[in-house]
Amino acid sequence: MRNSTSTLSMTTPEDLSEALQLLADTDKKWIPFAGGTDLMVQLESNLLDGADFLNIWGLFELQGIEESDCEVVLGALTTYSEIRSSEVIKSEFPLLYQAAGLTGAKAIQNRGTIGGNIVNASPAADTPPALLCYDAELLLSSSEGQRWVDYQDFHTGYKTHALAPGELITHIKLRRGQEKKFNFYHKVGTRNAQAISKVLFCLMVQVNNSRIEKFRLALGSMAATPILMDSLRDAFEEQEFGSDLIEKGLSILNEELSPIDDIRSTGAYRKKVTLNLFKYYMEKIYVGLGQ
Ligand SMILES: Cc1cc2nc3c(=O)[nH]c(=O)nc-3n(C[C@H](O)[C@H](O)[C@H](O)COP(=O)(O)OP(=O)(O)OC[C@H]3O[C@@H](n4cnc5c(N)ncnc54)[C@H](O)[C@@H]3O)c2cc1C
Repeated sequence: MRNSTSTLSMTTPEDLSEALQLLADTDKKWIPFAGGTDLMVQLESNLLDGADFLNIWGLFELQGIEESDCEVVLGALTTYSEIRSSEVIKSEFPLLYQAAGLTGAKAIQNRGTIGGNIVNASPAADTPPALLCYDAELLLSSSEGQRWVDYQDFHTGYKTHALAPGELITHIKLRRGQEKKFNFYHKVGTRNAQAISKVLFCLMVQVNNSRIEKFRLALGSMAATPILMDSLRDAFEEQEFGSDLIEKGLSILNEELSPIDDIRSTGAYRKKVTLNLFKYYMEKIYVGLGQ
């Protein structure tokens, strides 16, 4: 028999402090309910029987995008539509801006939150590769206190993560910088909209006088978690950008990538597409640098 919403238990705290006090009661099977766009799908499949939902959607402390000179901090409840309306995200973090625009359609963009996207932890989710490229940090809060975690360390395996019982993600921090960056986000799916990706390719390269200062390639839908290619970062940073580097990168990717096979695609296809995208966008940067 299917769940009906009338039989479910949902508690709505007044503020973050009350939410964290409630979550501290570990005898309850609390599940934070933000936009509910992932949870409603699981409810339909009867995967959440007996859960005590904690409605965090209205928590004002987790809303909004704050800017300071050095950083931009997004509340975990920031929706995709809010990301799309943010001038600072559009101009300084275009990978995240593009990811938000490629997530679902309008209804999902109005209700789905960045915190929910992170905690749902799908390897095919659209914002994680962008967050990896920008070295995002997460603020995790519980009744015991707060801690910052590098987003790169958050996912520990398929659908597992570093949140301790009683913790919420409250904020996501991105560091600002004036340096010139090349940003490329490419979602490969069966169609242009409403697709779950076969490959998510996210590249951010910061170059100063043809020397690479920062190099981030993050990939989605390739493994159990979104991945950041540390080996490319280590091989490329502090190097002159040249055609030999493109060849070197292709060789590293060819050696290291062994993507998953699943219902959406094969590992062989994913690898081929990733190599092609890498070559295509690296050549664009090369041309952009006038070399
Ligand atoms: C039709 C449809 C299309 C979709 N298309 C896409 C797509 O193109 N790309 C994509 O990436 N995703 C897509 N999704 C998935 C989903 O919309 C996103 O993952 C969304 O961002 C989830 O956010 P939410 O607020 O709705 O999360 P919820 O459903 O409320 O929660 C998801 C999980 O996160 C936990 N959680 C939420 N917020 C917090 C928090 N602050 N701290 C701790 N735990 C928290 C919840 O307990 C739950 O486990 C789609 C979903 C649907 C139904």
